[in-house]
Amino acid sequence: MNRILVTGGAGFLGSHLCERLLSSGADVLCLDNFYTGSKANIAHLLEQPRFELLRHDVTFPLYVEVDRIFNLACPASPVHYQRDPVQTTKTSVHGAINMLGLAKRTRAAIFQASTSEVYGDPEIHPQPESYWGRVNPVGSRACYDEGKRCAETLFFDYHRQHHLPIKVVRIFNTYGPKMHPNDGRVVSNFIVQAIEGKDLTIFGDGQQTRSFCYVDDLIDGFMKMMDSPEDLIGPINLGNPAEFTMLELAEKVISLVGSRSKLCFKALPEDDPKQRRPDITLAGKLLQWQPRVSLEDGLKETIKYFRGIL
Ligand code: NAD
Ligand code: UDP
Ligand code: UDP
Repeated sequence: MNRILVTGGAGFLGSHLCERLLSSGADVLCLDNFYTGSKANIAHLLEQPRFELLRHDVTFPLYVEVDRIFNLACPASPVHYQRDPVQTTKTSVHGAINMLGLAKRTRAAIFQASTSEVYGDPEIHPQPESYWGRVNPVGSRACYDEGKRCAETLFFDYHRQHHLPIKVVRIFNTYGPKMHPNDGRVVSNFIVQAIEGKDLTIFGDGQQTRSFCYVDDLIDGFMKMMDSPEDLIGPINLGNPAEFTMLELAEKVISLVGSRSKLCFKALPEDDPKQRRPDITLAGKLLQWQPRVSLEDGLKETIKYFRGIL
């Protein structure tokens, strides 16, 4: 029961997950097409005999023998997923079908990295799992949001129709070491800008909110979810409920970096959600999970990482 496939394993979250699985004693097959991931994220694991790297695109079928699958393959930052939106939808939808087909043949338990984006620009705050969301189906975020929503549908239909053991988590904004420096997400953008002494780019008036989870906390949640009883299928929110405006985040980053950067204001991207905070009651009750790392401590670790690579 120990052969684990991680799709998107060379990405930010995937590489942390591969590390954690290896240290738990598993055999890890890391699959990635390196669209946004990088070999540097997993280079230190290549020497380990229980680690194997496979260059492959999840939109194509894959025949391997595994016991568990973590399906993370998908670009996650708006800049990256909007660069080739058709490919983004294909990755979520065809990728889910192929990985579910693989799970069906091997009877593997399969985990889906879904997202808070399924809630769109929400009218309910904070967002519980029971909220169906408010997504613009034809906007520029739809390739990601609707792709992920359709993937959830496929997971639940394979569960109902073929009795697959599924585990669906909805991840809220997560940050930490190994984020791509150019991936366009707000935490990496602000830290890189502050270290380089450039103005921090605030989109809109900076009053929109997000809730940021440190990567180690999130990976704890992944492990707990995969190890939970078979009838716990989700969807379940994972994220840190501490909520900040982008202006507050910018000020924190500038002060922790000790930078003299100023703020500059840019246009708000289309369909940018105005507020986002997870209701994590379910994760607390069913997984005994809650995040531990404060934004300040997590930012310090992330800043240390970016200083090292820039
Ligand atoms: P990331 O871009 O660093 O990682 C995604 C990985 O998937 C990359 O290594 C990329 O090369 C790979 N990939 C993309 N398309 C592929 C394909 N067709 N075939 C094989 N590999 C492919 O992003 P991340 O932050 O690590 O996100 C991982 C997963 O978690 C994604 O599914 C994302 O939607 C989800 N998620 C992340 C966050 C977050 O805040 N980090 C929030 C919500 C959901
Ligand atoms: N698939 C795969 N690996 C497997 C089994 C299936 O990649 O080990 C793919 C296959 O390409 C198929 C998809 O998963 O198109 C869905 O499989 P399923 O068995 O559900 O559907 P079917 O083969 O009947 O279309
Ligand atoms: N954002 C910003 N400046 C940046 C990058 C992002 O103000 O340089 C804002 C963005 O408009 C959004 C929030 O920060 O309101 C989070 O953006 P991110 O791309 O990190 O994630 P998502 O929008 O998917 O939550």
